[in-house]
Amino acid sequence: MRAEAYDTDALRAQFPILRRTVGEAGAPLVYLDNTATSQTPGCVVQAIVDGYTRTKANVHRGVHTLSQEATDAMEATRRRVQRFIGAESHEEIIFTRGTTEAINLVAASYCSLLQPGDEILVTVMEHHSNIVPWQLAAERYGLKVKAVPLNDDLSTLDLDAYASLLGPRTRVVAFTAVSNVLGTVNPVRRMVDMAHAAGAVVLVDAAQAVAHERVDVRAWDADFLAFSSHKMYGPTGVGVLYGRRGLLDRMPPYQGGGEMIAHVDIESSTWADLPFKFEAGTPDFVGIAAFHKAIDWMESTGIEAIAAHEESLLLRAESELATLPGVRIFGRAPGKCAIISFLMGTEASAYDIGMLLDQMGIAVRTGHHCAQPLMRALGVSGVARASFAAYNTPAEVDAFIAALRRIHKIFRLG
Ligand code: PMP
Repeated sequence: MRAEAYDTDALRAQFPILRRTVGEAGAPLVYLDNTATSQTPGCVVQAIVDGYTRTKANVHRGVHTLSQEATDAMEATRRRVQRFIGAESHEEIIFTRGTTEAINLVAASYCSLLQPGDEILVTVMEHHSNIVPWQLAAERYGLKVKAVPLNDDLSTLDLDAYASLLGPRTRVVAFTAVSNVLGTVNPVRRMVDMAHAAGAVVLVDAAQAVAHERVDVRAWDADFLAFSSHKMYGPTGVGVLYGRRGLLDRMPPYQGGGEMIAHVDIESSTWADLPFKFEAGTPDFVGIAAFHKAIDWMESTGIEAIAAHEESLLLRAESELATLPGVRIFGRAPGKCAIISFLMGTEASAYDIGMLLDQMGIAVRTGHHCAQPLMRALGVSGVARASFAAYNTPAEVDAFIAALRRIHKIFRLG
């Protein structure tokens, strides 16, 4: 679909939350915090309501109708996710609470197979959820965590440094496909190939990528992939870990409890087959069932069409921002995702910008964005970040820019 053929009005009508106003003045909501979480269309909300009003019963091992329906819905989502990311088997799809839990699972379980002195390579642009779990594992198993730096453009990864950091002790490389601050789209396949050539396994953090580009684990040749439903127009509390079967088979369970066992004795137990070995306890089966609808919604809207629409909003915002003196944009990589991290002059802090925009009904995120090492590399303590999704409009971009012009005046920046 071409960007011009994209019917934003019809699309917006599907999102009840976009009709609300903000603050005492009743400003219409301009939601530009999509990188943190995207909004949810009515069909997904309805699936959650249906889950609670029609089929709520605990999944697996239930003989009664409701339990079987709930189980079927959850397992249908597993197969939907498998198709969505091109995994070989639905048994390689593990439901988690989100990207963070998916990464923690791999860090805790896979790293237990490593030797003291082995290395994990991350990058300086990672979200804390792709740094801290590795640090915890490093402390536990005597491993080292190293990080790939940025190029001088402060936007892209230094791949020469990456090549030299990949050493004989590198066992895991974990990096994001898309930076949640810079919007940079990393060369995933190239980085995966380099890691594999060095004998390391690769975890790709796809939290930001899945809603903006077609993700195919086989095209990327990723060993592990992590993402969250709530950034894909889906429910909160649901995420996915994809893992290559051969690796998941070798890994010990992450948590113990119901669902993940084959046989339990007081002294010892044996584990269920994949994927259940890694799904201890009652999952968010209502959310998982509704996640199916979110994937359907994204695919029927068209991931490429959404990406083209977001890009047109990004270009519109960037060309207007260029006319505002004193605005500093962080993240200049060509082909970046529709994320604009910025500061205005030195007087206005990211927090000031966020507060003032909020008073005008515009929701952006401010602060370190769970990326403190990146903030340090950029030489700032925080930035304001506007990010676009399928339902944002050119008029909202204009409202955002007009609001920035007002802030500009308040701080006498130009
Ligand atoms: N990685 C990236 C790149 C992210 O943007 C986020 C969320 N901001 C996460 C990981 C963590 O996702 P979640 O909080 O859903 O676990």
